[in-house]
Amino acid sequence: MYKGSWDMNTSWKNYGSCRGLNPNIFYPSCEEEARVAKAICRQCPVQNECLSYALKNQEKDGVWGGATERDRRRMIRQRLKTA
Ligand code: SF4
Repeated sequence: MYKGSWDMNTSWKNYGSCRGLNPNIFYPSCEEEARVAKAICRQCPVQNECLSYALKNQEKDGVWGGATERDRRRMIRQRLKTA
């Protein structure tokens, strides 16, 4: 079980609930299709690390840490507003 934080080290990926699953699940063609990936991410022990990684690396595609590209853009806008 994963415990702790590796920051931008990507070792956390080894603990992701998506490991071994079809990657296509995490690259949905629309927001509606992202529901399955988001449900998996909600149970993932490294959700926070995954989302932080995606935000810091400005990942453009896919569901990371339970967030779609649109979700991540919204998070970044909110952070900028409160900064
Ligand atoms: S949060 Fe989602 S995309 Fe990230 S490692 Fe976990 S299951 Fe995979």
